[in-house]
Amino acid sequence: MAGPRLRPVRARAGKDKRHQLMTARVHVIGAGLAGLSAALHLAASGHRVFLHEGARHAGGRCRSYHDSRLGCRIDNGNHLVLSGNRSTLRYLALAGAPDALEPAREAAFPFIDLATGERWTVRINDGPIAWWPFVPSRRPPGVSLAAMLRALAILRAGPGATIADAVNPRGAALTRFWEPMSLAVMNLPPHLASARLMAATALEAWRDGRLCRPMFAPQGLGPALVDPALARLQSLGAEVRFGAVLKALEHSGGRARALLFAGGERVELGPDDKVVLAIPPQRLNDILPEAQAPEEASSILNAHFRLADPSVARHAPRLIGLVNARTQWIFAKGEVLSLTISAAEHVEGTDSEHAELLARLWAETVRALALPQGLQPAAQRIVHERRATFRQTPEDVLRRPRALTSLANLVLAGDATDTGLPATIEGAIRSGETAARLIATPAGSGRSA
Ligand SMILES: Cc1cc2nc3c(=O)[nH]c(=O)nc-3n(C[C@H](O)[C@H](O)[C@H](O)COP(=O)(O)OP(=O)(O)OC[C@H]3O[C@@H](n4cnc5c(N)ncnc54)[C@H](O)[C@@H]3O)c2cc1C
Repeated sequence: MAGPRLRPVRARAGKDKRHQLMTARVHVIGAGLAGLSAALHLAASGHRVFLHEGARHAGGRCRSYHDSRLGCRIDNGNHLVLSGNRSTLRYLALAGAPDALEPAREAAFPFIDLATGERWTVRINDGPIAWWPFVPSRRPPGVSLAAMLRALAILRAGPGATIADAVNPRGAALTRFWEPMSLAVMNLPPHLASARLMAATALEAWRDGRLCRPMFAPQGLGPALVDPALARLQSLGAEVRFGAVLKALEHSGGRARALLFAGGERVELGPDDKVVLAIPPQRLNDILPEAQAPEEASSILNAHFRLADPSVARHAPRLIGLVNARTQWIFAKGEVLSLTISAAEHVEGTDSEHAELLARLWAETVRALALPQGLQPAAQRIVHERRATFRQTPEDVLRRPRALTSLANLVLAGDATDTGLPATIEGAIRSGETAARLIATPAGSGRSA
């Protein structure tokens, strides 16, 4: 079968270079944030882009959908994006939606310890010099200045060190600072999570309050991060295909030659055509065994509670961390309260276990948000993403594949590729930027990634 049906691409006449770009096709496989980012950057720079997505929708692990049990639209999981996530901001600007995410007024993270009832707010000051750890009211109670200063040790951590190896946190420093941070950023507890990756995030965002404001998606992740990119791709003439599952890749002579899709469809690649594979590690290893991407995964469980009367939670912070609780974070999203449990491998999947867990999580929510006693949610459900991120241990971080492959016309993207960042929205979007840059760079010009 010939290549996909080609929709005419609006050429900007008169520009030879641009015309040349328009004739070469770039096939991006996977319309998660990495693939969307690659496609957007390539289409915006004049490439003729075909985005092939196996599912019936874009967004991958970061999406919104109507949930029939809850009777409303939800995000598959809570996603914390920070104001210093510069690739995400560039992506949104390119998608024509620079204001799709709403920054909080300050870098403030409220917490409650359910064992003691204590409440506090970690407040990261604005500016290049981080003086907030020196102010007791800005750090968690019980965490000494010395313990906070020991955090700097992660900046010197070797590639084989976990956060616990590097910092050796104890007592309140462990339970009130490192555990919440490590679970939120790395989706692993400190004794398993790579210190190097945690340090990368600290350097990019956590060091300055201006870079560390939580960014909220008032209409949901899909409307903020996915829909504008799809609309922009369409306006740039890119072709987006859903239900297009890549099954195999033919290659010879150091180049990818053809893409084989489910249903027997075959897309021949011309001499100038290029490919970005932006699919998760397990699929990637099936299609390109040389990638040897880390396949072990950490899960994230989200519990969603719909309120009959959203005004009962009108005083709730948009985000609160919980300590000494099963719940780790609560996001208040109008009529829905969404709870996160990271590294949730231990949670089984039976209905009775879920019912028990939901009862406990709801009780914690009532306490944390000071909701009226006896209040019950109108509807509730658990969404357990078993493969939320790859397992970001030092060993598996070292196994992340680089963007460049042995095939001259094929590069990789995705949160599990070697971005230097944790497997996050920012990491996925950055990987798409890198892939687009490599695709746009003529072969043999000293590329590195
Ligand atoms: C519950 C949950 C909570 C999270 N919380 C946060 C958070 O707070 N902050 C944060 O920054 N990050 C968070 N993350 C991580 C973040 O969502 C991911 O890092 C990011 O979405 C990964 O994007 P990706 O494009 O690399 O991969 P994916 O989103 O997995 O996209 C890959 C796409 O490829 C498609 N595909 C797969 N195989 C094929 C094939 N053979 N052919 C065609 N298409 C294929 C898939 O359908 C998918 O759409 C969370 C993730 C989850 C699941």
